[in-house]
Amino acid sequence: FGALEAFDPEVAGVLVSELDRLRGGLQLIASENFSSPEVLTALGSTLSNKYAEGYPGRRYYGGCSEVDKAEALAIERCKTLFSADHANVQPHSGASANQAVYGAFLKPGETILAMSLPHGGHLTHGTKVSFSGKWFDAVHYGVDKDTEDIDYAEVERLAKEHRPKVILAGGSAIPRLIDFARFRAIADEVGAIFWVDAAHFIGLVAGGAIPSPVPHADVVSFTTHKVLRGPRSGAIVCKEQHAAAIDKAVFPMMQGGPQMHTIAAKAVNFKECATPEYAAYTQQVVANAKVLAEALGEKGIRPTTGGTDTHLSLHDLQGVLVTGVDAEARSDAAGITLNKNAIPFDPQKPNIASGIRVGTPCVTTQGMGEDEMRTVGALIARAVVDGDADPEHAVSREVRAQVTELVEAFPAYPRPTA
Ligand code: PLP
Repeated sequence: FGALEAFDPEVAGVLVSELDRLRGGLQLIASENFSSPEVLTALGSTLSNKYAEGYPGRRYYGGCSEVDKAEALAIERCKTLFSADHANVQPHSGASANQAVYGAFLKPGETILAMSLPHGGHLTHGTKVSFSGKWFDAVHYGVDKDTEDIDYAEVERLAKEHRPKVILAGGSAIPRLIDFARFRAIADEVGAIFWVDAAHFIGLVAGGAIPSPVPHADVVSFTTHKVLRGPRSGAIVCKEQHAAAIDKAVFPMMQGGPQMHTIAAKAVNFKECATPEYAAYTQQVVANAKVLAEALGEKGIRPTTGGTDTHLSLHDLQGVLVTGVDAEARSDAAGITLNKNAIPFDPQKPNIASGIRVGTPCVTTQGMGEDEMRTVGALIARAVVDGDADPEHAVSREVRAQVTELVEAFPAYPRPTA
């Protein structure tokens, strides 16, 4: 940071203290990860300067010969990684990717069937506060009250009743595998497009740890910064017959100039994801998530659906008489970053919530395994059940000391050895 530190010590200070924060605590937000220095190098490059509206070989600006190479690499690597007919690597984020999918397949006022937000969906899946719920007619399915897993009978019933143009699977708090073949069959029955928002779990697909939605879905949108471990961004893969519609919807319908530095970083990330090391990482992410869910369950912090098949678990705190908002604050005071989350059929308001969501992408990148997950489960439970939002409380201090010991043994962004 030398030159930046000299010119702008305030911003340089933020960069350094954020790195200290990452290194100093346990990062259990299910949608976060630690990108490699190689990905960060591409992100911080001069490709950020280049305007390149259009697509490789057909741009609206001169001087695109070099950035064309980066985008061509990202597209080819993405297609190969997911065995996809077509890839668009220009969406700026997951929400932008989703906006483009709406643009490609729906006109304002048409109907989409998607998972409800309080049962694990996402804001962009037709909630009233988002463009998706304001401009489209969204019908929502949820989970079954007993299994807490997707209620496929309800999906089928609502699909037949509302004849949606698009059926969407995926969300932000779904711990179990999604039955893509079943969704495909329902979509075919009513003549709907089948769209999967794979933002959360696409990294597990890339590494082969869970089955892929790509063979089943017409279109799959995703973020590149969660388990996948790439830059903060988005992408879309689809069947060949939808390629032109998707490309036109991303640019010029929804976006202007693509961020070529981020696209180069996506190319680097897709290369990383094709390695045996990354495949092993994704297996470990899932193994760790299972053990962490179990460890919390043993302390009375019940995993919904009874556990997880993925990188995240959702926990019901009602058995330990703590709210989600308090659990988040107590964990934070103890050096553990996680988020409060509504659980299905939650009696609390979303800003209070009865649950927490925990994920293992970051701690697994740090090299932690199942033994450490048992320790992490015990530390969370101690902070949540016995702790306090005050960092100076005895339990906050006690847990924080153990967190420090653990993260020093498994450092995020290890310091170079002299
Ligand atoms: N879709 C799902 C399922 C997500 O979980 C998220 C973000 O968490 C998004 C879309 C939006 O991604 P972004 O924050 O990059 O816009």
